[in-house]
Amino acid sequence: MTIWKSPHEDLDIPENVTTYQHFFEDNPSLSGAYENAVTKERLSFGEVKRKAELLSTIFVRKYGLQPGQTVSLFSSNSIWYAVGVWAAIRAGGRVNGASPVYTLDETEHALKTADTKILLTLPSSLPIASKAAANVGIPSSHVLLLEGEAPGVESIQQLLSQAESSPPSIIPTYQIPRGETNKSICGYLNFSSGTTGLPKAVMLSHHNIIAQCYQLRQLQVLSDPEPPSKEHIEGLPRYRILAVMPLFHITGLVRFVSYPVFMSGLSIMLPQFTLPSMLQSIIAYKIEELILVPPILIRVVQDPAVTPYLADLQRTVKRWSSGSAPTAPEVIKALQRKFPDTGFRQGYGATESTACISAHPPSHFDYKYAHTGGKLVANTIAKVIALAPPTAEPLTGEAGKEVLLGPGETGEICAKGPQIAMGYLKNPAATRETFDEDGFLHTGDVGYIDDEGLIIISDRIKEMIKVKGQQVAPAELEDLLLGHELVEDCAVIGVKDDYSGEVPKAFVVLTDQKGAGESAGRRLMEYVKDKKVAYKRIREVEFVDAVPKSATGKLLRRVLKGWERGE
Ligand code: AMP
Repeated sequence: MTIWKSPHEDLDIPENVTTYQHFFEDNPSLSGAYENAVTKERLSFGEVKRKAELLSTIFVRKYGLQPGQTVSLFSSNSIWYAVGVWAAIRAGGRVNGASPVYTLDETEHALKTADTKILLTLPSSLPIASKAAANVGIPSSHVLLLEGEAPGVESIQQLLSQAESSPPSIIPTYQIPRGETNKSICGYLNFSSGTTGLPKAVMLSHHNIIAQCYQLRQLQVLSDPEPPSKEHIEGLPRYRILAVMPLFHITGLVRFVSYPVFMSGLSIMLPQFTLPSMLQSIIAYKIEELILVPPILIRVVQDPAVTPYLADLQRTVKRWSSGSAPTAPEVIKALQRKFPDTGFRQGYGATESTACISAHPPSHFDYKYAHTGGKLVANTIAKVIALAPPTAEPLTGEAGKEVLLGPGETGEICAKGPQIAMGYLKNPAATRETFDEDGFLHTGDVGYIDDEGLIIISDRIKEMIKVKGQQVAPAELEDLLLGHELVEDCAVIGVKDDYSGEVPKAFVVLTDQKGAGESAGRRLMEYVKDKKVAYKRIREVEFVDAVPKSATGKLLRRVLKGWERGE
């Protein structure tokens, strides 16, 4: 029986403070800022604190926000997104992020799942956001803009400038109730479909976020020749990070919203990803470490648009980091060839683990280790459990049936530590399935841990499909397809794609088998395209006589994956 322990020194993680208190109030020399990479609009963390005081007061007094209630943010990356987050957190609320390009159905599902009280968005998302809010009973007055203007809609910037001109008395910062710790206070709700089913709201505590920041800092401190300081290099804080990935994903929430405050750094927000704007920002801000997803790394190594920037990039970038999905070995090799003086590291984890379960220690930034997910971060333990055969019932996560595996043996990776989430909001059944009684998260990822303690991920047994690092829940697409007149039964899985990592493929049983053919496939793909955000589109339809199911009627997706591999 093997339980793996983190190789890092244990960290003492505070339990009696919220993230806001710890990062903003317990930090007497608060410095650093959020900056818009394009407009250069900058908000120092001191200004963010002042604005969070005012806006939390407005949320509570004008909109009736109570501790434990949700403020949702449907927005691309923005310095004002961070202001919205910290105001909600200061008031004791829960923040929840989602894609600003969700369709109406998706937005409604998100608002209902997160129990949204106030919705912060952008003018471009307003038509759908307002309609969805009305459909789920959120008053139109509670839909606010983070940036820009729209007739009849208040913006947080207008509200703040009114409050700045005649300051109200500020509400006190939310305090953890007596007898409780930050482990039991949920401050963040991030969507994940987890092991099975539709997207759920993962409850992350203040402790989870603080712990992950401590865990990351330990690796950061070790990785730099000098410890991070508040000194400014050429006018820029030492810790600089370019927010390319969305803030509504857990990596964005931790790395670009929270961690920079903790590190007194500069978080540079890229509002809209384009390759040239990312490359120009890397050079302008002298970004040394990039946190990216595999498809962007593919563009970096393959896209001719990189050529004019190559020499500057080679001088500036010290380390490429990737996470959220596996990076293909060819991409890693190509990156090393193009940038021989850089290192590469991966973080491995999930929304349910506040991002990293493992990451590369500083001694492993070598390309030699690039294919691995690194070692367990501090205060984290792991076990690897034997997998049931593909034809057995899908994962249940039930404890008691587990066979623990040893080094080099492939099974399901499970992890326990202070970054492991509290569970799923209003979904005790899914919580029980994913978080076992001993406190381990059953990741649904397949892999092994080697003799050195390096985690190698090889597959996934959970249903989730990862398209360009973004989650797609097959159940969502299956529910939709089942509503189509052509479809009697169906199953959706992820199939390999060189650029996106995976793309959704549907196996469909038609109501009338004679209708099978290209045009039926096209009709079904068009139908999904109209109802779902672009990355969830079905790229392939295969007509089958039946989809494989267990004796109790559960879909056997691993059998379908076997069919795909020609087994
Ligand atoms: P999310 O909750 O969106 O971050 O998705 C988490 C899932 O992404 C994990 O359970 C893995 O399946 C996958 N994932 C994350 N990081 C990696 C990695 N470094 N290598 C392989 N898969 C990864």
